[in-house]
Amino acid sequence: MTTPAPASASFLVQNYNRQDVRFIRGAGCHLFDEHGRKYLDAFAGVAVSALGHAHPRLVAAISQQAGQLLHASNHYGILQQEALAKTIVQSGFPGRVLFCNSGTEANECAYKVVRLWGNVAHGGAKTRIIAFENGFHGRTIGSLSITASAKYREPFAPMPACEFLPFGDADALERAMGADVAGVFLEPIQGEGGIMVPPAGFLARARELCTRHGALLVVDEIQTGVGRTGRMYAHQHDAVVPDIMTLAKGLGGGVPIGAAVLGTSCADLLKPGLHGTTFGGNPLACAAAITVLDEVLTPGFLARVTERGDQLKQGLEKLFAGSAVRGKGLLLGVQLPGDPAPLVKAALAEGLVVGPSGNNTLRLAPPLIISEAEVDDVIAKLRLARIRT
Ligand SMILES: *Cc1c(COP(=O)(O)O)cnc(C)c1O
Repeated sequence: MTTPAPASASFLVQNYNRQDVRFIRGAGCHLFDEHGRKYLDAFAGVAVSALGHAHPRLVAAISQQAGQLLHASNHYGILQQEALAKTIVQSGFPGRVLFCNSGTEANECAYKVVRLWGNVAHGGAKTRIIAFENGFHGRTIGSLSITASAKYREPFAPMPACEFLPFGDADALERAMGADVAGVFLEPIQGEGGIMVPPAGFLARARELCTRHGALLVVDEIQTGVGRTGRMYAHQHDAVVPDIMTLAKGLGGGVPIGAAVLGTSCADLLKPGLHGTTFGGNPLACAAAITVLDEVLTPGFLARVTERGDQLKQGLEKLFAGSAVRGKGLLLGVQLPGDPAPLVKAALAEGLVVGPSGNNTLRLAPPLIISEAEVDDVIAKLRLARIRT
């Protein structure tokens, strides 16, 4: 394996702050770099590798599909899309699914449906869009326009209009709502914004306000969905039913796929020709996602996510006594006094992969298959890393 050229000699656009590590192989919850060094993965490539690395069933499903058909395009029927959509709807809420290739594309689709809701279903009477401070919805212009943080948006201004409210503030939402609101976008737990959990009842009131004013409630489950928080979808903790849910990250277990799940109220607004994608929902990506969902929906799987999440949370609370540990299931954040980067780096040196979230939060989002012993190992390695910083 050749050592890559220094950044100054790289042919890559330098738009990432990358760690000086190159993973070349994985197995279960472990990763191996090009020197054969082993790491425990408590990040899952930003909550993506839900079944860990080289999961035998996922490898078999992808290999089988690759040998059968990779791509045919949405000009034709795709059996795997039908099967995957049925599973998603039956594990979520009544509606229909549109497949795409990433999180931001899923939110673009949701955004366009919100526009159709205002322009077509309500004759142009609903134009306003509401989202929340500190949220993250993606990097394309539509998704960026509903992402509040100035550091992501401002370099690309001007943006389509969006109003931002304090996250978790249902009273502020009540004051802002009106008959002219087309849609409200929110994450059930803010993943990039520091693993922020809203106060109990916030989602239910957002649901109630959207219903009262005829606005679509769009729940961005791109990071929280597919079992990550111990429920199939995080909004199910609150027993609310969104109008639209967006998925990506963990859905394909590492194969790129996104989905916009459109409730029955709005699914039929997307007529033929109004939206589409060349690659979205191709047989390979769907075969991967079908396998991920089948595993996550196996009886007992989600209960284990909750157990391992509770174990990890308790370990973190003990290790970081006095600091807030936020999140649910296996999406957890530890509030630090400052930048998490030094601790992330020290953990890597101890053979542990963790990540940052926001400006001052350490993020843990291990594969959902992590074992009890591996959770203990995460805490042990983090303890050593902490001593080094
Ligand atoms: C990662 C993420 C996105 C963007 O997904 P991409 O696949 O990077 O486009 C959108 N919303 C949330 C909540 C995310 O965590």
